[in-house]
Amino acid sequence: MARVAVIGAGMGGLAAAARLARSGHEVTVYEQAAEHGGKLGTLRRNGFTFDTGPSLLTLPHVYRDLFAATGAPLDDLVEIVAVEPTCRYRFPDGSELDMPHAEDQAEAALTDAFGPEAARQWRGMLTEAERLWELVGDPVLQNPLGGVGDLLRRSASVRDLVAIAPWRTLRGVGRRFSDPRLRMLLDRYATYSGSDPRRTPALMTVVPFIEQRFGGWYVRGGLRRLGDALFERCTELGVGFRFHAKVTAVETGGGRVTGVVLRDGERRPADVIVSDVDAEHLYGDLLTDRRADRPRRTLRKTQPSLSGFVLLLALRGRTPDPAHHRVLFPADYDDEFDSIFGRRPRPVPDPTVYVCAPDDPAVAPEGDEAWFVLVNAPRQGDVDWTAPGLADSYADRVLRVMAERGLDVRDRVRWREIRTPADWARDTGAVGGSIYGSSSNGPRAALLRPANRSPVPGLFLVGGSAHPGGGLPLVAMSARIVAQLVGPA
Ligand SMILES: Cc1cc2nc3c(=O)[nH]c(=O)nc-3n(C[C@H](O)[C@H](O)[C@H](O)COP(=O)(O)OP(=O)(O)OC[C@H]3O[C@@H](n4cnc5c(N)ncnc54)[C@H](O)[C@@H]3O)c2cc1C
Repeated sequence: MARVAVIGAGMGGLAAAARLARSGHEVTVYEQAAEHGGKLGTLRRNGFTFDTGPSLLTLPHVYRDLFAATGAPLDDLVEIVAVEPTCRYRFPDGSELDMPHAEDQAEAALTDAFGPEAARQWRGMLTEAERLWELVGDPVLQNPLGGVGDLLRRSASVRDLVAIAPWRTLRGVGRRFSDPRLRMLLDRYATYSGSDPRRTPALMTVVPFIEQRFGGWYVRGGLRRLGDALFERCTELGVGFRFHAKVTAVETGGGRVTGVVLRDGERRPADVIVSDVDAEHLYGDLLTDRRADRPRRTLRKTQPSLSGFVLLLALRGRTPDPAHHRVLFPADYDDEFDSIFGRRPRPVPDPTVYVCAPDDPAVAPEGDEAWFVLVNAPRQGDVDWTAPGLADSYADRVLRVMAERGLDVRDRVRWREIRTPADWARDTGAVGGSIYGSSSNGPRAALLRPANRSPVPGLFLVGGSAHPGGGLPLVAMSARIVAQLVGPA
């Protein structure tokens, strides 16, 4: 049995803690904040409940597997419901597409919205994406990845690598679509890893494939309930939690990790350390060991993922034509990526607006609605989001943009809360408020992502900034990989 210290009680840290406790280790989680969850946060006020981070659950079987492997089934604890339609997209010309939850209805929906040729082209893209999913789904996502050599070993043939074609971009794949709205739709999936479609490898086409094959899901009462269930699972398994316990150093000695140091100077010995914090924070601030120089250098070669500007709206009354998820596209999508990743970062003047409006009586007083609004944003540091007045005036702008695109809720706002990239950075330790660690920008991005096993013996990385990446399902996959690397007690 090893003494395991997990740094951070985000979903990656909790999932690793549950698996390691289940396999017999003595696990303690050190979390700087007052409670668990990390980016999967919640705000409860005046009868309204908001998810402050994730609002769409994909690949729910990843969490079902986690719960089945550590105790009672997930479906005994939370209610996971299909989102129908998965998303309503509104394009700059005012046309709309309701993408259905069920895969076999997608073609009809696309035909209705864009015509049969567009539907055929989309299906063709997804057929290729399915092949990619077969190549990467299990071999890459479910296993540690230690660089190009590893990828070559895992690829059954050169044809596999040609199919993955890391030099092809998502934008390049979209060029085959004759309808610009379809190109816009595909581009959007780059932002699922916080990236720019013009630089994200074509491999990201697996994201729309996953969404259509496995569906988009919601957890009744809010996605945060998934985090609460996982926290309870950890406590049932005997995991110890220390909140308000910021780790300021990872200590090494005798060739391996020896423990963590807390902000108040307290030293906590550990045989194994699992870090759920942003890899840039771990390697930049917590670890001085020279063996970490290599991952430090590698991280410098990556471009961080984008951040998000969030508006939580407590709305009076009900929307006549509700949709759980909406995306309101801008006229000039490239300007969004130039604003975020370009030479002169700025809050996106005319952003894509994502709205999550759950039709769930548990999250708002009767007759009212709790809306989560998200737009992509440059990181804190690229823009100073703490500048006086900026957050409020930008929130007003986002509400105006929504109104211009047919969703005017300005006279229904009872109250609102704003979360900027500066808040993500402060509250979750994500450097610059990046949502997904390093971005997928560039052909080698997946290989440059920090590995789950660090060069320092006994130190492992879980969570959205490590392999295989960000998002709820992927961080739980990283926990499974780490539990395997640590092994049973
Ligand atoms: C606005 C937003 C929208 C999103 N939407 C979706 C979505 O719809 N679907 C989806 O699947 N994913 C979404 N995501 C991504 C998803 O939330 C994350 O990938 C996932 O929750 C990250 O979990 P994690 O365990 O990697 O880390 P985190 O949640 O970042 O947790 C890290 C934890 O470490 C703690 N910590 C940091 N430094 C220290 C330290 N020195 N000492 C102690 N503790 C420390 C932090 O306080 C935090 O609790 C979204 C994220 C955001 C911000």
